[in-house]
Amino acid sequence: MDNTKIREQVKNEFTDYLTLRKHRKTPERYAILDHIYSTKGHFDMDTLYVSMKESNFRVSRATLYNTIELLLDCGLVVRHQFGDNVAQYERAYGNENHHHVICLECGAVKEYKNVDIFTPSQQKKLKRFKISYYSMYIYGMCSGCEKKRKVAEKAKKAEEKQKLQNGASKAKVASKDAKLNIKKK
Ligand SMILES: [Zn+2]
Ligand SMILES: [Zn+2]
Repeated sequence: MDNTKIREQVKNEFTDYLTLRKHRKTPERYAILDHIYSTKGHFDMDTLYVSMKESNFRVSRATLYNTIELLLDCGLVVRHQFGDNVAQYERAYGNENHHHVICLECGAVKEYKNVDIFTPSQQKKLKRFKISYYSMYIYGMCSGCEKKRKVAEKAKKAEEKQKLQNGASKAKVASKDAKLNIKKK
């Protein structure tokens, strides 16, 4: 489905939800929803606030938080908590079935799409449960951090070796001094 259709569809869904729950249908709320569905990827509240401001749409942080809560409640937005970072959000539709690979060192998050973790027969086993979407978190270390760690380990080993060598040469000097002292006597 193309994005214009998705934007139209989520708008209708939001209207149904707001009507049902007797929430006000303010232009700000629709603008926030449309802004989220015009962009892709993850965002936190700060980046959303800034990007809305940059597209000349001024909305208070309070309205932003309040609207995100509504969008989470009706399932149009998904919240993630990747490691210790601040909560990240993303649109729920047009963005299904991707996995998140999270580096525990630097917190970088990568997305992997179209990797089916369920085979058709496994999906059949999920009886009396219709899957709308799924998301998997894979925690580990990114290649950049792995490289850094290897370099740090090497440096540490070299330092230890140097320390040992210094110790050995000091011991040699000490034993020479001792011999000299004996000769002097
Ligand atoms: Zn990393
Ligand atoms: Zn994602």
